[in-house]
Amino acid sequence: MASSSDSPRVRQVRPATEGWTQKKDAEGRPLLQFASPKRGKPPVHLADLTPDERQTKVKDLGMPGFRAKQLEKHYFTHYTNDAAAMTDLPASGREELVAGMLPHLLTEVKRLETDRGDTIKFLWKLHDGALVESVLMRYPGRITLCVSSQAGCGMNCPFCATGQAGLTRNMSAAEIIEQVVRANRLIAEGGLGDPRKLGHEGERVTNIVFMGMGEPLANYARVMQAVRVMTDKKNGMGMSARGITVSTVGLVPAITKLANEDIPVTFALSLHAPDDELRDELIPVNSRWKVDEALDAARAYFEKTGRRVSIEYALIKDMNDHGWRADLLGDKLNERGRGWVHVNPIPLNPTPGSIWTSSDQATQDEFVRRLEAKGIPTTLRDTRGKEIDGACGQLVATEDDERVAAETPPE
Ligand code: SF4
Repeated sequence: MASSSDSPRVRQVRPATEGWTQKKDAEGRPLLQFASPKRGKPPVHLADLTPDERQTKVKDLGMPGFRAKQLEKHYFTHYTNDAAAMTDLPASGREELVAGMLPHLLTEVKRLETDRGDTIKFLWKLHDGALVESVLMRYPGRITLCVSSQAGCGMNCPFCATGQAGLTRNMSAAEIIEQVVRANRLIAEGGLGDPRKLGHEGERVTNIVFMGMGEPLANYARVMQAVRVMTDKKNGMGMSARGITVSTVGLVPAITKLANEDIPVTFALSLHAPDDELRDELIPVNSRWKVDEALDAARAYFEKTGRRVSIEYALIKDMNDHGWRADLLGDKLNERGRGWVHVNPIPLNPTPGSIWTSSDQATQDEFVRRLEAKGIPTTLRDTRGKEIDGACGQLVATEDDERVAAETPPE
């Protein structure tokens, strides 16, 4: 399918795992896990509940319902679950109330700072020992947190470290929210630069990307509860829905469901290949829903919400970075109309000796040029804080992390 304009370089590297074996199903295809394995559930937390349910639970704990509002304020605005700090609550029964409503969820195992303190990667241990990560990034004018939505992932992409061990379990809504609260607490304490010196007092996470561990739309109900809490101005975090990006490798029925929610989040489709031949190997869920179906669902998302859709495209040397693929992608997007989409090519980090390595600069530039020539708005994205960026996953606990985690007592 390579056009003559691609010559002389027509090398085609096929996706393959390196250093691990992909699990296969009975038909020999990469195994896809949609259902979360049954494990002990994390304790129910205020952020898992609707405002009415919070009041009911507070009453069950022997306090008047209005105390729920105070707890919301402490947790979502002051980022605390420390009963001692909540002096507006009666001393008698306070500990029990806070323990019942704001149970401990995440233990920090490790914190890694890069980019001169502008990027912080957190490794968290969940109540059952499962490990997840989040990445906090300061950009000019915004602070973005990349959150995990599942421990592990069941989508089995051959380039992805997260997918290798399969899906451990879905995270609860509160475990997702707690990542944001902890990041906000760190920012307030000056962990991302002294807020007074920077003139940024009161700043907090402004943007959320669901591009950490997991496939967010495979954990639909909990991710949507988390998004509701993030955007709830009265009883939640009061963030802008536009600043929240929900990404997927292409779970088409869930994209349709998302379009029908009344929360206009930014939607990102991690496409990575415009042709089924390659995408079947690169993104195994493509065996379920093909490129055209995923693009149709993305277009329908735009029609329903009026929100421009992002297409994420990791540029992998000689695998998916050919000029003809940029042309094909441009054509497929234009077939579905104009002005509804933009493309974010993401160069991988150079990994010498690996087939999963970055395209060279000239190839990246040519890929962008071809998309732009077809009238597609295109922005080369950076990969801060991640080794390989498939726009989700690539966050994984190493053996060393596992050891440190085992030695870290709950906070
Ligand atoms: S790339 Fe994303 S969808 Fe694929 S296995 Fe990794 S976390 Fe899951």
